[in-house]
Amino acid sequence: MIHNLPVKTLVHKDLTIEGYSRAAVQTYWRIPELKIGFDLGAQPWSFMGTPTWFVSHTHMDHLVALPVYVARRRMMKMEPPTIYLPEAAVEPVQRILRIYSRIDRGRLPCTLLPIKPGDEIELSREHVVSISATVHTVPSLGFVVWQRRRKLKPEYFGLPGTEIRDLRLSGVEVTSELRLPRVAYLGDSTPEGLDACPAMYEAEVLIMELTFVAPKHRKDKIHKFGHMHLDDLLDRRQRFHNEVVIASHFSTRYHARQVETWIAKALPDRMEGRLQLWL
Ligand SMILES: [Zn+2]
Ligand SMILES: [Zn+2]
Repeated sequence: MIHNLPVKTLVHKDLTIEGYSRAAVQTYWRIPELKIGFDLGAQPWSFMGTPTWFVSHTHMDHLVALPVYVARRRMMKMEPPTIYLPEAAVEPVQRILRIYSRIDRGRLPCTLLPIKPGDEIELSREHVVSISATVHTVPSLGFVVWQRRRKLKPEYFGLPGTEIRDLRLSGVEVTSELRLPRVAYLGDSTPEGLDACPAMYEAEVLIMELTFVAPKHRKDKIHKFGHMHLDDLLDRRQRFHNEVVIASHFSTRYHARQVETWIAKALPDRMEGRLQLWL
């Protein structure tokens, strides 16, 4: 194992959240059980086995490791990865890869696919990712991973199994789909990105940016940079129904201890213990 980049880990039920994020430095997350990752601002050696990535936007601290990741998978004889990007980014990123391929003298095999708000990407029979609009200084997206289950429709409750089977065989749709938002990833955004996608507040685990926390950094100014302030979280406190909220992407202007002090003042119980600071 090569330890070249910080990786924090949180296990929640059957899912593991791994990653790290600091504004203007690097952002990378993955959920090994779902075989997906969010953002490629850097690529820890241990993340290479994850074959599918969703990129929230094209700022360097969220994207610049894409060629490195593709090259490593090729070197290690892994399948070419699939990377979903905001529509406008696909063509320029293809060009970057072509140029890199030339100066590196190595092929960079991968599939780049465009995504936009409203899209849904099927990961498996069980899991689907929905794409939502976020608000930043470049085109940007948020993601919700849903778990799907088939559930018997209430009108068939209490029927014997053989009758349900006969109904199903005769072509009647006896079940409906039940969707559970498991993990949401906001990426870089003003609070509008949360408000535009109510599932962000309902997901079991929400990974969100909280770039600014200092009282002297005023939130109206912060919104112009496409970011979130601690005050925004406080304004919406009652809306967060998540079991875990991971706050991240803190500004490098802050020392870890300062962030902890401001959060302790504003949210002494850390949202009943649900709020985690990834510093
Ligand atoms: Zn960022
Ligand atoms: Zn950004």
